[in-house]
Amino acid sequence: MTTPSKISPATLAKLAKLGIHHRSDLLLHLPLRYEDETHLAPIDTVQAGETAQVQGIITHSEVIYKPRRTLVCRLEDNNGELYLRFLNFYPSQQKQLAVGKAIRAIGEARMGFYGMEMVHAKCRAADEDTPLNSSLTPIYPTTAGLSQTILRKLIGNALEVLPLRETLPAVVLDKLQLASFSDSVKLLHSPPPDVSASALEQRDHAAWQRIKFDELLAQQLSMRVHHRERGKRRAPALKAKKTLTHQLLKALPFALTKAQQKVLAEISHDLEQAHPMQRLLLGDVGSGKTIVAALAALQAIAKGYQVAFMAPTEILAEQHYLKLREWLIPLGLEPVWLSGSMKKKDKTLATAAIAAGTTQIAVGTHALFQASVEFKNLGLVIVDEQHKFGVQQRLALRNKGKNSRGERTEEIPQSQSQEPHQLMMSATPIPRTLAMSYYADLDVSVIDELPPGRTPIITKLVSESRRDAVCEKVRDACAAGQQVYWVCPLIEESETLELQNALETQLILSETFPEFSVGLVHGKLDNALKASTMAAFKAGEINLLVATTVIEVGVDVPNASLMVIEHAERMGLAQLHQLRGRVGRGAAQSTCILMFQSPVSELARARLKVIFENTDGFIIAQQDLQLRGPGELLGARQSGVAMLRFADLTVDEELLDLARATADELLSEFPDAARAHLHRWMSNKQDYLHV
Ligand code: ADP
Ligand code: MG
Repeated sequence: MTTPSKISPATLAKLAKLGIHHRSDLLLHLPLRYEDETHLAPIDTVQAGETAQVQGIITHSEVIYKPRRTLVCRLEDNNGELYLRFLNFYPSQQKQLAVGKAIRAIGEARMGFYGMEMVHAKCRAADEDTPLNSSLTPIYPTTAGLSQTILRKLIGNALEVLPLRETLPAVVLDKLQLASFSDSVKLLHSPPPDVSASALEQRDHAAWQRIKFDELLAQQLSMRVHHRERGKRRAPALKAKKTLTHQLLKALPFALTKAQQKVLAEISHDLEQAHPMQRLLLGDVGSGKTIVAALAALQAIAKGYQVAFMAPTEILAEQHYLKLREWLIPLGLEPVWLSGSMKKKDKTLATAAIAAGTTQIAVGTHALFQASVEFKNLGLVIVDEQHKFGVQQRLALRNKGKNSRGERTEEIPQSQSQEPHQLMMSATPIPRTLAMSYYADLDVSVIDELPPGRTPIITKLVSESRRDAVCEKVRDACAAGQQVYWVCPLIEESETLELQNALETQLILSETFPEFSVGLVHGKLDNALKASTMAAFKAGEINLLVATTVIEVGVDVPNASLMVIEHAERMGLAQLHQLRGRVGRGAAQSTCILMFQSPVSELARARLKVIFENTDGFIIAQQDLQLRGPGELLGARQSGVAMLRFADLTVDEELLDLARATADELLSEFPDAARAHLHRWMSNKQDYLHV
């Protein structure tokens, strides 16, 4: 009998990044696609655009430096030759691909400068005697440092040692006419030779149908269970008193947009209920979520309750803090600040004010829900950029408010413990229906309109080969007193390379622009330094800010009017949209230059076209959805609540209908099956398991 393989702590950490916490999660870690290594193509038959496996001898190998350090090798078989090209290669690869080596390579062919070529082909040593694979090779979603080989081994082992139990009762399964769970999982991990890779990749194969159905069923079950459960929990009913909100609205230099009014009404209605609100406020960058949150806070404060307002980074939290002071101090309210990096004395003062209830609103970072922070009567928790927080953190805050009492809440029986209402905010522009199904435990409000009077950002696509012209633009902007962001490329394979690249870029740009001050922020920078650099940029002391893709979401520097994004072809649409949203915040006409380096894959080309043609985050999200399916859209894994990895709501409506009906049937007639099914799909999300 096979025994479960041992997994090292380092590997476990990487698996956790993929959402794999239990051995059984490996079973549902399904391939993204497959590679056909079951036969070899003669090199002269390889067509551009086709993924092919070829074999031959390396007859030339060279590192070229223009336009960028690249390893170029020529591979020859008896029929022809093609070129293998690598950007960001390691010395070991160079050795492996030395002249005279016999190599088997698989990759997408394209017509390049020298002729047919493959960029970043997967290569290994192989000669005529090296056997071919007998079935398609699964390619799994993975993370840096976790190879396909290791994943395949772990998954193979899990398939051998774990039972693949059927969760659906036989009568239900018969009626649905779906394939069995066990057959489906096995087939997807190692498809027999007669199943075509494209049928699997389209995800309409019977095995995929079953998996997608199961996923949708789990989602439907958890939504019902959760809804039921939330109805049983108590929260303070915060009947709206309009005095404070009217005062603030009157003092604002602008009027709320229709969309802001609509979402505010939805939130206000929720706050009046004696059950906890769990609402996600979605609105594109700059749509004005903060004022809506402030008005919601006033509804709680007016009833004698406290509000916690939390953001994922100090920079963002501080920005909120300053905004709230500007708005609330005139109303006689004094927001307090709480963050991890505060001096001990200040922290003690802040926590004392929070515990005594002398402050009505606390603004800060994660520090707000540390055990040492006790609220006197927390009524509402507001979380900005909620996708940056984990479920655990959200639950911790929810528990903070337990047993808290408002001063004028005699109407609520105190026999049952109360918890605060929760308002989550996110600028991740996702279509509403999709959001509702992702965040099954949340209601969703959308601000679908920007405040009037913004100047649209001009987007330009510029080839890397015209870098000099881009530098001229940067020089002009800085000389005119404008500020510029320069975003370094995303290098998914290696954080070290990414950092190195950012440092080099700063160096090069400092040399290019000796007359300007060039700053740098990146993910590895410690918080204090990051904050002081951002503050210097905001104050105009830095003209050009070099940044990795970590530039804080939501950071507001109105004088920054030009953004250059290097290797834009590597970035996802949501990311490009978020980055671009850093400019166009002031009165000046803003420009975003997307630099790309050829070759650009078809998918990347499609993405660049979308970002070039659109500025509306929701349209971009919709297109993103079509380009790659919803699985990855939300950076979902971190949030821990997003659920659909396999089903695609844009094409799987029928399955969704089936899943809805089946969820009702299971809950009323087969509760054990419902529990088992939820357990399989949701075991990492304790929050969903209160069946
Ligand atoms: P986000 O939704 O990205 O968090 P903010 O709340 O930071 O957006 O708002 C962006 C800017 O728009 C802020 O300066 C804010 O004061 C301003 N703003 C918000 N609502 C309106 C409105 N209705 N009319 C004009 N400006 C507004
Ligand atoms: Mg914001």
